[in-house]
Amino acid sequence: MKLWIVGIGPGDAQQMTQAAKQALEQAECIVGYSVYTQLVQPLYPHKTYLSTAMTGEVERCRMAIEQAVNGTKTAVVCSGDSGVYGMAALCCQLAEKFPSLDIEVVAGVTAALSGGALLGAPLTHDFAVISLSDLLTPYELIQRRIEAAASADFVLVLYNPSSKKRADYLRQACQLVLRYRSADTVCGVVRSVGRDGEEKQLFTLGELQDYKADMFTTVFIGNSQTIALHGRMVTPRGYSL
Ligand code: SAH
Repeated sequence: MKLWIVGIGPGDAQQMTQAAKQALEQAECIVGYSVYTQLVQPLYPHKTYLSTAMTGEVERCRMAIEQAVNGTKTAVVCSGDSGVYGMAALCCQLAEKFPSLDIEVVAGVTAALSGGALLGAPLTHDFAVISLSDLLTPYELIQRRIEAAASADFVLVLYNPSSKKRADYLRQACQLVLRYRSADTVCGVVRSVGRDGEEKQLFTLGELQDYKADMFTTVFIGNSQTIALHGRMVTPRGYSL
C-alpha cells in the first residue's frame, strides 16, 4: 500500500525534482486540486486522475488514502512543496488509522524559493514565511506573527496574500511592517512562477500597499539591509567586500 505526497514545484516540469517525477511515474492514480492535476496530466497522460475543487482538501486526501489502501499506487500532488501549506500533514493525520500504509513525502520547490530565484536573492538572510489566509488561522494570530517577524527584521515571504474576501489584507500587512521598517524598504512580487503569465516586479514597501495581489501571487518584503541591484532584489549576507 503506497501513497506519495508530492510537491510538484511552481508549475513547469523543469522545476520538478527527479524524485517527484519518479513518484508520479510509479503512481497509477494521481489525486489533486484540478489546477495541479492539469499541470501534470500532459506529462503523465495515461494515469487515472481524481480531483476536487479548491476547498475540498479533506475529501481529496480521504479519496487518495482510500485508493492506496485498496491497492492502487497513488500520488497526491500539491504545488510547490506538499509540506508548505500543502496536504502532507493532513494526509498523515487522516492515514493514522492505516499504519501499514507506506506514506512517502516528496519535497518540492516552494514558492518562496522559486519566486526568490526569479527576483534575485532576497532570502540570503533569515526569513519568515507567513500565509495571510485566515480560513484556518485566526487573523489576530496572523497579524501577531507579521508584527513579530517585522520587529525582528526578518525578510518576510507572504503566501496567499489576497482573495476576494480579503482584498485589503496585503495593505494591512504592509501597514504593520511599516511600524518597524521604512517606506523605501525593497519589496518584490512574483505571480504564476513557472506557469503561463509569469511575472515579477520590485516595489518599495510604501508602493506595495496599493498592489493588487491575487491567489497566484507571492510577496517578498525585504529586511533593513535588502537592496535593489539592476532590477534584482538582494538581501546581503554581510560579507565585507
Ligand atoms: N504548497 C505551496 C503553497 C500553497 S499556498 C508551495 O509550497 O508553494 C498557495 C500560495 O502559494 C499562493 O497564494 C501563492 O502565494 C503561493 N504560490 C504557489 N504557487 C505559486 C506560483 N507558481 N507562483 C507564485 N506564487 C505561488
